[in-house]
Amino acid sequence: MTETAQAAGVDFHCHLDLYPDPEAAIARAEAARIYTLTVTTTPKAWSRNYELTRRTRFVRAALGLHPQLVAERAGELPIWERHLPETRYVGEVGLDAGPRFYKSLDTQKHVFRTVLEGCAEAGGKILTVHSVRSAPAVLEMIEQYLPRDRGTVVLHWFTGSKSEARRAATLGCYFSVNTEMTRSDRGRALVAGLPIDRILTETDGPFTQIDGRPSEPADVKATVAAIAEVRSVPVDAVRTAVKSNLRPMLT
Ligand code: MN
Repeated sequence: MTETAQAAGVDFHCHLDLYPDPEAAIARAEAARIYTLTVTTTPKAWSRNYELTRRTRFVRAALGLHPQLVAERAGELPIWERHLPETRYVGEVGLDAGPRFYKSLDTQKHVFRTVLEGCAEAGGKILTVHSVRSAPAVLEMIEQYLPRDRGTVVLHWFTGSKSEARRAATLGCYFSVNTEMTRSDRGRALVAGLPIDRILTETDGPFTQIDGRPSEPADVKATVAAIAEVRSVPVDAVRTAVKSNLRPMLT
């Protein structure tokens, strides 16, 4: 990812390896010229994703261990550590304190701490972070284990409060916003208040839908329009901001 001028949009959190035909999904993102960060949910999935994106122009892979899979996959943490030098992008990582995953929260915190410390030691990593029902703990850990000058955090599908969003911005975090976030009053109020210089777009496809089918990177055009509508600004203003916010993630 080098020339932002060529980009038609940004999908900073997508799971292209979970589509029925990942290679075709990658090819469509390339053809649409969408800078896409395709995250992995387990360290064992990394090598294939990495291979598929080594020669792409707009699509990059991130090395992750999804908090919802930590209960079964925490044993893959040494694999995550081994692959870290191969990439600048890390995710999907973070915490999930929702009812289904609460039981593994202590293990999730151990994994997330190891990830943050590994990134701090390496320096220059960019992380896409999940924080369902756990924004305060996620922010606490970022503050404690990943100094601002040692890495960049993008909070994906952030659903914390406005004051938690302010705290995150103070810590240097970015926010990748998807269309789902602009559908509730609470989400709209949150998206309206985020600092414009910290906003990126995402689909989290295939876990979100548009017109009854899984979202794809090219659908971020609708996300840009939705953000513009929520903030009462021209679509171009959001498009330009997102592209300029992406720039430090590429150099
Ligand atoms: Mn995701």
